Amino acid sequence: MTIYRIPDHLSCIIFDIDSTLYTNEAYAREQTGIQIRRFADIKGISYSEAEKMIAAFRENFRKEHGTSLSLGNTLTHFGIPIEESIRWRNELLEPAEFLAPDVCLRETLSELSAKYTLGAVTNNPLVPAKKTLAALGVADLFPVIIALDTTGYSKPHPEPLRRAAKAAGVPLSKCLSVGDRFDIDIALPLELGMGGILVSGVEDVYKLPDMLS
Ligand SMILES: [Mg+2]
Repeated sequence: MTIYRIPDHLSCIIFDIDSTLYTNEAYAREQTGIQIRRFADIKGISYSEAEKMIAAFRENFRKEHGTSLSLGNTLTHFGIPIEESIRWRNELLEPAEFLAPDVCLRETLSELSAKYTLGAVTNNPLVPAKKTLAALGVADLFPVIIALDTTGYSKPHPEPLRRAAKAAGVPLSKCLSVGDRFDIDIALPLELGMGGILVSGVEDVYKLPDMLS
């Protein structure tokens, strides 16, 4: 865990969902896997060809722009509109096949929700985002969920963060972003005056109540 900044007057914690609220390699892989499989089918190429094309494009983008490009946004450069890859994910992602209720996460978030508003900001669409929180047994603890199709913008973009803070009724300066990818979840929140904590997975999330008390 790396603590970059904790706001003086913390009132809202905005969590990334995937690989932050659960640690599950197979499901993390499945999320990109279903989209690359569908993309390869449409283009009539093999999975590994599709994977290489996408990886090369993202690597180039990172070199040119110094920031990561989400898979959904990468696919738009290959003629797949974001609405289309959202539809794939809505249809194909079944988090309950990979994830189970996490009692420790529930205790952690329950404790935090007594003091802070909890939000989730994800680059997944709302349907799989809600299914994921439900599979983990914590859906009722998130009054604020901002998904890719809530704003149409992928992280890192200010709009999902602004929307989450607005829904929580607090300024960004009172919000803390918690996520597993610095580029996607932490760098921009810090620029916007929010707090930021980088986690390696859910095991780090369990430590938050002690760390913030
Ligand atoms: Mg993540």
